[in-house]
Order: sequence, then C-alpha cells, then structure tokens
Amino acid sequence: MAPFPGRGPRYNRGMSDSLPPFDWPEMLPGWVWLVGAGPGDPGLLTLHGLNALRQADVIVHDALIDARILDWAAPGAERIAMGKRGGAASPKQREISDELIALARAGRRVLRLKGGDPFVFGRGGEEAQALARAGVPFRVVPGISAGIGGLAQVGIPVTHAAINQAVTFVTGHDVDGLAPRLDWAAIARGSPVIVIYMGMRNLAEIAGKLIAAGRDPGEPVALVASATMPGERVLETTLGRCAAEAEAQGIGAPAIVCVGRAVLMRQALDWQALVAGEALRDTDPLNTGGA
Ligand code: SAH
Repeated sequence: MAPFPGRGPRYNRGMSDSLPPFDWPEMLPGWVWLVGAGPGDPGLLTLHGLNALRQADVIVHDALIDARILDWAAPGAERIAMGKRGGAASPKQREISDELIALARAGRRVLRLKGGDPFVFGRGGEEAQALARAGVPFRVVPGISAGIGGLAQVGIPVTHAAINQAVTFVTGHDVDGLAPRLDWAAIARGSPVIVIYMGMRNLAEIAGKLIAAGRDPGEPVALVASATMPGERVLETTLGRCAAEAEAQGIGAPAIVCVGRAVLMRQALDWQALVAGEALRDTDPLNTGGA
C-alpha cells in the first residue's frame, strides 16, 4: 500500500493565541481529523478539539453538536451538518464517508466533529476505515463519552470500589433498530453496572431481559437525558418501572440508561445540587459507615 501523503504532520508552536503554549499539531490540507466533541457542554471539548476547530476550513458535524462549539471555528469555515439522528431522515453512513473523502481530496482541512467519543457507538471506526481504504490521511481526537462523562455530570460514578469492578457498555439497538442480539443473561450475571446507549426505544424489552436473567426489578436505574446540555433531565427509577416511567415523564433521546447500585451514589455525589445551593440527600447511601 502506498504511503499516505504528508505523513508525519509538522508541529507548529503557538497555533492560536488563545490556546496555552504546547506543540499543537497542525492540520494539513487533505487531512481529515475525526474529533469527539464530548457529550454536549462546550467546556467538555478537549483542547485538541479546540485546536482542530481553529484550523479547519470545513467542519462536517453531527446534528447534536452545540452551536456554541461550532462558533469557535475559524472565521469563514464552512459548516456541513451531517449526522445520524434516531428516526429522522439522516444521511447514509456511506454518503458521509464519501463526502469526507471528496473534501479531503479537494485539499481541504476537514474536521469531522462527532458527539462524545468518535469510537464509542458513533460509527467513527467505520468513517476512519473508509478514509484508510481511500488513502486519505487522518487523525483521531478522543472525546468524553456520554456513558461515562454524562453520568459523572449528574453525580453517578461509573465505577465505585464498593459497588463494581466491572462495567458493561451496550447499545440499545442494532443497525435495524432492534434490541441487539447479545447474551443478556451473561451481562445480567456478570456486570454489576450496565450502561446503555440509545436505550430508550427498546427499554421495556431490555429491562425485561435483564429481569428474566435474574436482576432484581427493584434495582436502581437512572435515565439521564441531554446530559450536560441545557435541557438535561435525570429520572431515578427502578429496573421494573423504568420503561413506563420514562414514557409517563416524556424522557426521550438522547439519553443514557444506567442500571445498578452506582445510581445510589447520586444521593451523595449530586454536585449540581450543591451548585444550586441545595443539600445532598445522603452522604452514605451504601451504609458503609463512610469507608
Ligand atoms: N459517540 C457518542 C455516542 C453516540 S450514540 C458518545 O461517545 O457519547 C448516541 C447515543 O449516545 C444517544 O442515543 C445517547 O444514548 C447517548 N448520548 C449522547 N450524548 C448524550 C447526552 N448529552 N446525554 C445523554 N445521552 C447521550
């Protein structure tokens, strides 16, 4: 296979006055940078992400990216909204990849901005592979994934020594929109905490499978919708009731579902309550005596 053009990008000191001194990588013409934008709050974009925004001449972004992040782009940068959104008409993955390839081949500095981390349930791997196969050079900038950072935002630690030594991330639907054909019984038995992306559509079915495999219907569940965004909502419920309550309260996508006792920790760790001047509910929700 022929080497990629421009391999080994140059580094350019002081790329932008507003970034701290560092050897910021330079975005070269003909390259695509696949960047994770984080879960929503612009402050959760990485500095490498900001460095990319400052240099790109075209930004191909997911539908859900906060407009304030896009406003950090260099003046005159072109913006192309291209992302999947559950249900609504959205471009096919192939069209997105073809567009990225065409823009790169036209010599543009291309920023592909995706929600969360580009390689977590976001088709970033497929897009990067399409670039690889087309001989288009690319860089990947990781981002804060909603299933970790979105939970931390609302005071739920995805691991907590007294609760879980493992966590499982699953998607609530496959490419056809159906609950994925996973070994739910093995996940139910083996994973004290289960974090579900895109879980709202098939929530009743998934909760039913976990209960059928032995999980307690009274087990705590949190639904976190639009985490870190202005419309953020949290519903603390149980495995047995989560689907009905989500519907009754109109909790919809984008939402993260967290199943497990980690949800109890929110009683002690809901830092947003502190910011709002409220009291914490219980500083020892596991009744461990403070260990
Ligand atoms: N790459 C992304 C996930 C893309 S899949 C990441 O790493 O976070 C899209 C799903 O992510 C949504 O259906 C939802 O389950 C979750 N998600 C993304 N942003 C979210 C947010 N701000 N709040 C809650 N869930 C979010």
